Amino acid sequence: MENKILEAKDLKSLDEVRVEIFGKKGLLTEQFAKLKDLPNEEKKDFAKNLNIQKATLNKLFEHKKEELYLKHLEESLKAEAVDVSMFSHLQSAGALHPVQQTMDKIIDYFVSLNFEVQEGPLIEDDFHNFQALNLPVYHPARDMQDTFYLENGLVMRTHTSPVQIRYMQKSQPPFRMICPGSVFRRDFDITHTPMFHQVEGLVVDKSGKISFANLKYILEDFLKYMFGDVEVRFRPSFFPFTEPSTEVDISCIFCEGRGCRVCSHTGWLEVLGSGMVDANVFEAVGYRDVGGYAFGIGVERFAMLIHKIPDLRSLFEGDIRLLEQFR
Ligand SMILES: [Zn+2]
Repeated sequence: MENKILEAKDLKSLDEVRVEIFGKKGLLTEQFAKLKDLPNEEKKDFAKNLNIQKATLNKLFEHKKEELYLKHLEESLKAEAVDVSMFSHLQSAGALHPVQQTMDKIIDYFVSLNFEVQEGPLIEDDFHNFQALNLPVYHPARDMQDTFYLENGLVMRTHTSPVQIRYMQKSQPPFRMICPGSVFRRDFDITHTPMFHQVEGLVVDKSGKISFANLKYILEDFLKYMFGDVEVRFRPSFFPFTEPSTEVDISCIFCEGRGCRVCSHTGWLEVLGSGMVDANVFEAVGYRDVGGYAFGIGVERFAMLIHKIPDLRSLFEGDIRLLEQFR
């Protein structure tokens, strides 16, 4: 019986051996059946020996089973090995997030006009995020930016403007720069998320060398580059850090200005804010006799308009069904 177990070549033949030895009509059962015919004085020894033999066979069987299983595993791993160099039609390529794609397109435009790209910290102090931008402590305009305050008095930056303050503190005009990056505000609805992206721009030169006409020209050209042949409109507005300030609209790209739900039947879409830099901002960084203009672009707003995405929040849900459309 030991030999039968030892000679089994695979799990299947071992199982046949199992039935042959341990089965209901197997060899062991046959041996135990002999017990009843033996004289009483021999029964005890015979049964004892038989149980020892059964335990030995069991041990041997389990050992062989383990050995054959490992052999089987090794063979099937070899047989099913994946050839990673083989070409497959099922591969799916990744892609940049639509917000990143939009941001890259915006950056490309300004880099082509020799704007420098600058980045800065996400956590800011009150001076760089507010005070230097003509937003003194307790100024009511601070309410326009619902802010995340940290316990130590620092803030999650509410715009990328502090990057401009830091840049001006270490350099002298003339210069033109943009600062792309993520910003944070306590907002959450179909057009707001607590984290979103801006590209802000700043151009500074000697006083008198730069005017609102320069700002108007560059923004009109930029918006046609982003949205195609649209009408551009400048509306007077208020921002603490620019004077005069304007909001900039384009003719609605969904209804071509006739009026629809997206443009609230006005025919116009608000796309960015801009203006001539307020003198108090230049004073805060120690500049004299300079002029300049600034603008701020909401990247998600642009991505939503370009790709006709109705709910801004869906951009950050990580839903592959939305994202794979941007491959
Ligand atoms: Zn419309």
